[in-house]
Amino acid sequence: MIRTGIGYDSHCLVAGRPLILGGIRIPFELGLQGHSDADAVAHALTDALLGAAAAGDIGTLFPDTDPRWKDADSLALLALACTAIRERGFVPQQADITVIAERPRLGGYFAAMAGALSRASGIPVSAIGLKAKTNEGMGWIGRGEGIAVIAVATIGAA
Ligand code: MG
Repeated sequence: MIRTGIGYDSHCLVAGRPLILGGIRIPFELGLQGHSDADAVAHALTDALLGAAAAGDIGTLFPDTDPRWKDADSLALLALACTAIRERGFVPQQADITVIAERPRLGGYFAAMAGALSRASGIPVSAIGLKAKTNEGMGWIGRGEGIAVIAVATIGAA
């Protein structure tokens, strides 16, 4: 049995915050705003995996009203979500992730991001696809106001 889920996340880019994507700190003059570390790659992947298991979403598992998750390491949240998925009898198998950001260029960080996501989720590094797109200058992403991420993930029976 194979099941597929989709996840989406977006965060504002602001001054005075680190830019963390896929668990990797990326040198940039702006970072993502959020209650946790605002790692939109980890968040979108977490929601894709939870969706595949019909196990809710990141907002209900880790509510931003809960002080436990303030500045949380989103890779730790991803790992906790994967534990919940395994408890339901599934194994995370594969993910494909697209980051939509006008800046910075991200391709040079994909290998490190895939390694970090693999360690947190148990998905083999060879089964984690990462891609970056700009928004061709259009809209809020094009103006550099924020970053969006779309993820698809597959889980199978344990
Ligand atoms: Mg988020």
